[in-house]
Amino acid sequence: MKSQFNDSSITVAVVGCGGFVGSHLLDAILARTQWRVFGVDLDFYRIQHRLRDERCEFMVADLADKSVVERIAKYPVVVNLAAICTPSRYMAEAPEVIRSNYDHPASLADACAKSGSWLIHFSTSEVYGRTSADAGLLVEDETPLTFGPVTASRWSYATAKLLTERYIAGLKNLKWTVVRPFNFVGPYMDFMPGVDGSGIPRVLANFSSALVRGEPLKLVNGGVAKRSFTSVFDAVDFMFALFEAGLAGNSVENDAGKSPFSQAFNVGNPDNEVTIAELAYKMRRIFAEIKCVDVESIPGPETVSGEEYYGEGYDDSMRRLPSVEKAERLLGFKAQTPIDVVLRESLTWFVGHYSNTSHPGTDSASS
Ligand code: UDP
Repeated sequence: MKSQFNDSSITVAVVGCGGFVGSHLLDAILARTQWRVFGVDLDFYRIQHRLRDERCEFMVADLADKSVVERIAKYPVVVNLAAICTPSRYMAEAPEVIRSNYDHPASLADACAKSGSWLIHFSTSEVYGRTSADAGLLVEDETPLTFGPVTASRWSYATAKLLTERYIAGLKNLKWTVVRPFNFVGPYMDFMPGVDGSGIPRVLANFSSALVRGEPLKLVNGGVAKRSFTSVFDAVDFMFALFEAGLAGNSVENDAGKSPFSQAFNVGNPDNEVTIAELAYKMRRIFAEIKCVDVESIPGPETVSGEEYYGEGYDDSMRRLPSVEKAERLLGFKAQTPIDVVLRESLTWFVGHYSNTSHPGTDSASS
């Protein structure tokens, strides 16, 4: 273990520690380091098993509360994962989505600039915007960031996230790193609509829900858009590569061009690129294997229009392929998990977790 991971005097604040990525990060920090964690979230159901851990302190709060923001910024490393990131809300609740993804992280950034904490802010690969089907690799410091018209409220989330990135990058005295996740997937992702959440979650949770319920998988506008899916466990490994570089002391800053500070990083797996229709095909096949049934007995996919499915203002990125050269060059990190492995792992978890609660309308709260 690296010496900085053995340092029990380090406390990391994780905002959004009860969420999909936060819960995996928390488990990994406790398993791989001697650090303490100050965890903030509104919902802790994914981390029940950690609530009594003596190395953790948890607070039920959000960043709307200035005193909480000040408290978080007292810790030397602050990871901000908190966000409204349910796609159907980008159209239905654009003002709330913008406030949560800009106002709150900006106030945390101000507090970290004042206290000297290292802020690791989770942004989104949606900042690359309305990419076309023939878009090539998306490169952090080169690719133009272009959104659709203001009436396409799908971009409310991406616009707020990008504004936060620009705000962070513009703050004097802030030690920062921005992370742009490319479709992280894995156990505990999102929710099952009507069971522990409402609205339309991201595609993996939607397809998993439909499979468990014996309903057709919905391909938005034919499922021709492409995404590169990344295992959440690879994402956690990226965080450790980042921690290692950032906490290695001045040597990192002195190592010309190798500092992880003042950088935005794509975190993705370009080897895992598929169309959404291919994703549906793979998930249907894997589900049949898990359930030991003939794939033909599982309903086939159906096409639906984006506006019909998500509501007015929906728009899409047609291709989102990350360049991962920067993370490899500065941090020595490269995602490893092939798509079939992460899909099987996620779907196995989903089936086990939701099989007894799969009836639409059993609306139990998620917390
Ligand atoms: N999508 C789909 N069916 C669904 C959910 C999503 O075809 O049930 C499509 C969506 O239109 C987009 C892609 O899958 O083209 C990925 O959508 P997601 O909401 O997971 O995240 P995004 O990458 O767009 O942020």
